[in-house]
Amino acid sequence: MTSPNVLIFNCGSSSLKFALIDPISGVEVISGLAERLGEELASIRYSMGGMKQRLELPGADHQEACAQILGLLTEAGLKQQIGAIGHRVVHGGERFRESTLIDAQVMDTIRDCQRLAPLHNPANLIGIEVAQQHFPSLQHVAVFDTAFHQSMPAEAYLYAIPYALYQQHAVRRYGFHGTSYRYVSQRALELLELPTDHSLLCAHLGNGSSAAAIRSGNSVDTTMGLTPLEGLVMGTRSGNVDPNLYDFLASECGYSLQQTSRMLNKESGLLGLSGLSNDMRTLEQAEAEGNERARLAIDIYVFTLARQLAGLATSLPHLDALVFTGGIGENSSRIREATCRRLSILGIDIDLERNVANGAQSQGRISADNNTPAVLVINTNEELMIARDTHHLVAQQVADTEPSPSRHH
Ligand code: AMP
Repeated sequence: MTSPNVLIFNCGSSSLKFALIDPISGVEVISGLAERLGEELASIRYSMGGMKQRLELPGADHQEACAQILGLLTEAGLKQQIGAIGHRVVHGGERFRESTLIDAQVMDTIRDCQRLAPLHNPANLIGIEVAQQHFPSLQHVAVFDTAFHQSMPAEAYLYAIPYALYQQHAVRRYGFHGTSYRYVSQRALELLELPTDHSLLCAHLGNGSSAAAIRSGNSVDTTMGLTPLEGLVMGTRSGNVDPNLYDFLASECGYSLQQTSRMLNKESGLLGLSGLSNDMRTLEQAEAEGNERARLAIDIYVFTLARQLAGLATSLPHLDALVFTGGIGENSSRIREATCRRLSILGIDIDLERNVANGAQSQGRISADNNTPAVLVINTNEELMIARDTHHLVAQQVADTEPSPSRHH
């Protein structure tokens, strides 16, 4: 690679997030978001050197957005700085245990995983194809949300349904948010100077929320499953419900499969319970103003989170630390305090002042210095993780293909 900077693409069905990152220092040279792609209101927002800009792109699709991003990078003299491109891919099935250089075979496998993530992988594929057309001479790397959880043992990833469904259709638990867990668990290790044999609970709490048990750097259990619907209460997703709900709603309310699926994914969680919003900030404010349904939604969010964290702990021999991350985990002292109160059975005890400050003056630590397990707030950085993986894989490939130095006799 002539330049080490990595361009990150994170493609959704109607959006394209991008960033140019130095994988060594973590500095973001430019970052932005193209959204509402395919609509009249399509636009790109980006920030570079502290300056924020917005471009309207009526009707633009992913292809056009990518051309615009390339134009922006060229105009800013940044095109030559791109050493490689890293793509976030949601589902890597059982094939990908780690990030990989993209070739035709890898593309086929990602395509094959579309049936496991019909909402996400098709968009990820569009992002890769469009980027490959615009940057044909660069290496492209795929970083999978599921890869980190491939270390889970069979007892954690199998559902108690006929085994043939796993063998023939790959029905199992996969888990998501893996790139975030990899980042925050490595940071926790550095901050606490933990030994190789360490045990962590991590909660990634954003609009999508999950939690994971991590032992010696490997995921051993997580709350999300075949899809990102299983597990915790989320912004609009229900998390765990009785699977017979599909039957009940069909016979009682005439719901089709699609209607129930839509209800569980888009109309449930904090939004469904509160009838107000999927956004935790809005709910905390409403709760403070006496809104009972907002309080109920928050209580159920916390109850479910604490209950599942305690369950995850059964996969660990001891507990070194509990880590909070994601928009809610990093910013909501209210949710962290209420969750930790319920986890006193695990020896969790936080310092209320440190918690209110989000651990800002204590290197992220919100428990007392000498208390084990430690409780940490760590800002996640999935983009940096993607940049590092991409840089590492491309540098390794260059080293592998360079002729070995000639020997002098
Ligand atoms: P993410 O998906 O990681 O961007 O997280 C989005 C969630 O974080 C939303 O529910 C936000 O309301 C929540 N969030 C962000 N900042 C705060 C805050 N200061 N207090 C409570 N929740 C917050």
